[in-house]
Amino acid sequence: MKLLVAKSAGFCFGVKRAMDMALKAARKDPDQLYTLGSLIHNPQAVEFLKELGIKVKDRVEKIPKGTVIFRSHGVSSWDLKKARERKLHIIDATCPIVKKAQYYANYLHRQGYALLIVGEAYHPEVEAIRSYLDEGVMVVDHVTAVHKLGPWEKLGIIAQTTQSVGLFREIVASCLERAREIKVFNTICRATMIRQREALEIAKKVDCMIVVGGYNSGNTQRLAAICGEIQPHTHHIETARELNPKWLVKREKIGLTAGASTPSWIIREVEEEVHRLKGWLLRKGNRSSQVSKI
Ligand code: SF4
Repeated sequence: MKLLVAKSAGFCFGVKRAMDMALKAARKDPDQLYTLGSLIHNPQAVEFLKELGIKVKDRVEKIPKGTVIFRSHGVSSWDLKKARERKLHIIDATCPIVKKAQYYANYLHRQGYALLIVGEAYHPEVEAIRSYLDEGVMVVDHVTAVHKLGPWEKLGIIAQTTQSVGLFREIVASCLERAREIKVFNTICRATMIRQREALEIAKKVDCMIVVGGYNSGNTQRLAAICGEIQPHTHHIETARELNPKWLVKREKIGLTAGASTPSWIIREVEEEVHRLKGWLLRKGNRSSQVSKI
C-alpha cells in the first residue's frame, strides 16, 4: 500500500502564528485569557488550548477583564470597539494576509467601486471585512447569484482568503458582461492555492482520499469538495478514530491531506491508523486465503 501525504497538509502560516501567540500568552499568564470565538476551526486543538487555561467566549460582553486574543480571521469593527471600551488587553492574531484582503476591500470602496466578495456571507473573515465598510457590500458563493446582481459602472472583486480558485475564476468571468470596468484583487492566500492544487494532484493519483480537519472548518470542507469532484472515494474525517476500515479494502494507493487548522499530531495519528488498518486487513485476508486452501 502506498500512502501519499500532502506536503502542505496542516497548519498554515496564519494559524501557526495565532497558535504561537496564544501559547506564549498562556505561558506568561493563563488567568483571564480569552479568545473571541474558537481560535481555530478544530475542536481538538481548541480543547488543548482550554486545558492550558485559555477560555473561549463568543461575545466581547462576556469577557469581564483580562486579555482577549483576536483570531486569524480578523475582528469586526464593533467587537474591536467594544474590547477597547472594556479596556481589555488585546492580542491581535489577525493573519497579515487577511489584513491585506481588508486593505484591498477598503481601497476599492474608497475608489468608488461597488465591492463584491467571493466568499461565505457569515464567515467571520467576511463579516470582519464588511464591518469596516458601509452597507451595500455584496457577497456571493456561487455563480448563479451573480446573475441577479448589477449591472455596474465600476466593480471591484476580492475573495475570502480560503476560497476555491476555480469558483473565484468562474465568478470573475461571469461578471465581465455585467460591468464596464472591473478591478480584481486575487486575495486567495497562496497557502490555500498550493494546498488545493496539491490535494487535487494527489486525488488524481489515488483510489481513496482522506481529508482531515474540523467539520466546522470551511477550508477543510472545500478541500474535501475539490477532491470529491474527481475522486468519489473521498472521506472527510476529524480524527483517526473515524477511519472506517471498509474504505481501505482493495485500495492500494491512498491520499491524505488536511485543512489549514488541522494540528500535525492529528495528521500523524491518521497516518499511523491507515498503516495499522491496512496491516490488519492484509493479515485478515491472508488468514482467510489459508483457510480456503485447506
Ligand atoms: S489560510 Fe492563509 S490567509 Fe488564512 S490564516 Fe492561513 S495563511 Fe492566513
